[in-house]
Amino acid sequence: MRAVVFERYGEPAEVREVADPEPSEHGVVVRVEATGLCRSDWHGWMGHDPDITLPHVPGHELAGVVEEVGARVVGRRPGDRVTVPFVCACGSCPSCAAGDQQVCERQTQPGFTHWGSFAQYVALEHADVNLVALPAEMSFRTAAALGCRFATAFRAVVQQGRVAAGEWVAVHGAGGVGLSAVMIAAASGARVVAVDVSPRALELARKFGAAECVDAERTEDTAQAVRDLTGGGAHLSLDALGSPATCAASVNGLRRRGRHIQVGLLPSSSGTSPVPMARAIALELEIIGSHGMAAHAYPPMLELVRSGAVRPDLLVTSTIPLSASPEALAAMGTAPGQGVTVVEPWS
Ligand SMILES: [Zn+2]
Ligand SMILES: [Zn+2]
Repeated sequence: MRAVVFERYGEPAEVREVADPEPSEHGVVVRVEATGLCRSDWHGWMGHDPDITLPHVPGHELAGVVEEVGARVVGRRPGDRVTVPFVCACGSCPSCAAGDQQVCERQTQPGFTHWGSFAQYVALEHADVNLVALPAEMSFRTAAALGCRFATAFRAVVQQGRVAAGEWVAVHGAGGVGLSAVMIAAASGARVVAVDVSPRALELARKFGAAECVDAERTEDTAQAVRDLTGGGAHLSLDALGSPATCAASVNGLRRRGRHIQVGLLPSSSGTSPVPMARAIALELEIIGSHGMAAHAYPPMLELVRSGAVRPDLLVTSTIPLSASPEALAAMGTAPGQGVTVVEPWS
């Protein structure tokens, strides 16, 4: 099969022929029809992810068709149209037994713990626990954005964030996760303030339902700007980018008893992120992490998509072939927040 491979961190990846994967006993091989390009792929390529060993194939937000199933898979057949959360759970550890597959103790992640979906085929573990059947009317392109950013945003806003109609929700960082969060919060009846350095990203945020936008490039104190626009602070605020600055701004932009959700990854290479804990105490803030979403939690999100209240298809701003993805991967570092790029490995 053809796959995007890199041998050294931060040096150009290349498309080459590699051996086809084979399914493990509980796993499947999926023919990849579409796979999203995410900032986490860039972090992996830069060497910020300790799970990766070289040579490596990135890619973790995919949709496709089951090609081959392992001997002990019972619920999946070749030909099934599927997607998968980026956290693939084991199905049997204490966290999985509690229904918290998104923080599985023996999780695998395609494109991180093993070769990912910037390839014509990808192997996925524990298929009966992790595969999500795609509704017939959903395209692979749209579904490719669900496994990482849209599902991640849905859990962050709805489940961890407990968004309520009429609340102010601040979203710091209007990349893939941030724009998804804007859409989901607006569909939930919240009023959304989007914060980003890119006017283009803010334009998209407004299109997807943000009531207010803060241009972080031209604003000295974005937390103050959020407090001013929301009459004292957001009820719920997300750091959807993942940086010490956006994390602190998100916490500082909350009103009393507000909830901060950390959803943007904070790679260990940028050190420990300082959180304004004095403010957390004085204002009784909640500081909450959010990590992907379990496969069994997808149905309410898929129903929201089916109803047309949210449009993940609109997040996809470009589609590229495998041959263009090494360059697009490298560009993620300098130009995030331009909507979602989807790679189609067979085009
Ligand atoms: Zn991702
Ligand atoms: Zn587990």
